[in-house]
Amino acid sequence: MGYDEARQIWNASIDKRPGVIARCSGVADVIAAIDFARANKLETAIRGGGHNVGGRALCDDGLVIDLSQMRSVHVDAASRKVRVQGGATLGGLDRETHAFGLSVPCGIVPKTGIGGLTLGGGVGWLLRKYGMSIDNLLSCQMVTADSRVITASKSENEDLFWALRGGGGNFGVVTSFEFQAHPVHTVLGGLVLYPRQAAPEVVRHFRDFMLSAPDELTAYAAFIHGPDGTPLVGVIACYCGEISEGERVLQPLRSFGRPMVDAIQPMPMPAMQGLLAASFPDGNQNYWKSTMQRELPDAAIDAIVAHANKMSSPLSALVVEYYGGAAGRVPNDATAFPHRDLPWDILFIAQWTDAAETPIHRDWARAGEAALQPFTSNAHLLSILDSDDDGIVNTAFGANLSRLAAVKQKYDPTNFFRVNQNIKPGQAQAKAV
Ligand SMILES: Cc1cc2nc3c(=O)[nH]c(=O)nc-3n(C[C@H](O)[C@H](O)[C@H](O)COP(=O)(O)OP(=O)(O)OC[C@H]3O[C@@H](n4cnc5c(N)ncnc54)[C@H](O)[C@@H]3O)c2cc1C
Repeated sequence: MGYDEARQIWNASIDKRPGVIARCSGVADVIAAIDFARANKLETAIRGGGHNVGGRALCDDGLVIDLSQMRSVHVDAASRKVRVQGGATLGGLDRETHAFGLSVPCGIVPKTGIGGLTLGGGVGWLLRKYGMSIDNLLSCQMVTADSRVITASKSENEDLFWALRGGGGNFGVVTSFEFQAHPVHTVLGGLVLYPRQAAPEVVRHFRDFMLSAPDELTAYAAFIHGPDGTPLVGVIACYCGEISEGERVLQPLRSFGRPMVDAIQPMPMPAMQGLLAASFPDGNQNYWKSTMQRELPDAAIDAIVAHANKMSSPLSALVVEYYGGAAGRVPNDATAFPHRDLPWDILFIAQWTDAAETPIHRDWARAGEAALQPFTSNAHLLSILDSDDDGIVNTAFGANLSRLAAVKQKYDPTNFFRVNQNIKPGQAQAKAV
């Protein structure tokens, strides 16, 4: 692989030129890379799956610790524990766990890295039943800024383990994650699609339905375009319990109004995880915004529908995600992820192909976030923050910021790991939220 290929990531809007890309194959390589960067005072980025929309996997001039060759996944079927290297992707994890009839709660697009996703919290199709990725994390093996190899778990370096569950890549390079997997093999899932005109009723019904849905069901509403450019609205659902019970539970959702397509059917979990893969190909331009809310009143739905109808690219999407369930029952301070009580996340995904059109599509995403300002809780998902969101990073850490800053001070006092959603060591910024 040549330099230009090695510096490419999923989002084509990012064009950074690192001085060194250290393509690590194991813990010893990670130690050597950190030693080299420290000795030469190089700014240092960590690349997991390369899916951070803001391009935090790379830096200009400095050194990238590239984990993309560290992708192995080992499943222990008896204990249902899974050891995953720091550069693994969700698709690679699902493929291995499925062979044992198991799943680890993670995200919904297979090429996303388990590294950045987990350290940001990790929301996906199993979160209402089994929690976020961090709720299933048992331990991390990592290399710190002073090149020590340590373990963080409930029994070792407990403060660090707390911080890693939502604090991002601030504390060191996680060379492997250990997860608890669950017996999920076949789910009832897929899309129900409607013409865009039905959006106000479809999204209201989706909201009301989800507020009393069982934990086995996780579902999002989405504004998208069909392959011929027709504006559509849909609900994508995943039921991870008994299929026959799922058919009963999902019936009111599927029979609402006059769907154009009802593609909900039993499918293997990796197929569910792959349903959206084609919508997020490598090499498109991307700019994303998201905002979290406690409730979704009718007026917010009206604002969402109006903004979706102004979408500037047929490749873009507006997604209304509902969390809650097991993920929502964890206290806000039990892990570093601080937004358990804000179950609605509204995602403005601007995606296009021609770089010259960037301002139009970026403005659409920004205007969407602004339109929802009256309804939001001034909170954001850490892993969705774009490159110009560094000023609001504190809102992603919420009330946990000061505790995170203390852990940062202990494990990375020089802020060696700063190409990320950065927490300043021990800082005064901690009072910002
Ligand atoms: C198409 C797409 C779909 C997505 N879907 C979901 C979803 O369903 N659920 C969800 O929760 N999020 C989702 N996200 C957001 C995603 O979690 C973040 O973009 C995350 O940063 C991706 O992780 P990565 O390893 O691929 O990122 P990278 O860009 O490689 O890394 C991002 C940052 O994470 C840190 N990092 C990564 N790996 C490590 C490691 N091993 N050790 C220490 N630090 C590390 C570093 O700070 C790095 O700067 C999605 C993003 C995209 C683009």
